Amino acid sequence: MDKNGKKEIARYVNRHQSLLNMLDKIKLWPARSGVLHGIRQIDRRGSLAVVTTHCGERFIVRDSRSSRAARWLRGRRHAGTCRACAIPAWKLAKYAATVFRG
Ligand SMILES: [Zn+2]
Repeated sequence: MDKNGKKEIARYVNRHQSLLNMLDKIKLWPARSGVLHGIRQIDRRGSLAVVTTHCGERFIVRDSRSSRAARWLRGRRHAGTCRACAIPAWKLAKYAATVFRG
């Protein structure tokens, strides 16, 4: 179920697109620690972006299809979610229902 109580429909994301485009769509950040954070803002500066999480962390992400973050996003790899980010259940359900294809 999504936030409006509708049945969850699979979301399709092209797996070959760049990391920053995926982040724009998914709005979740898989940290190296394995914790999944919610993204508050993405400021793109060419091939880089300044990502701000809901828990207040800010860091620079380099656009790449093959980076660890891109791989982890496609694999939906994470071990727990950030408490401070308080990612809503519907967003996690949408992530779980995301199909990376193409
Ligand atoms: Zn967080």
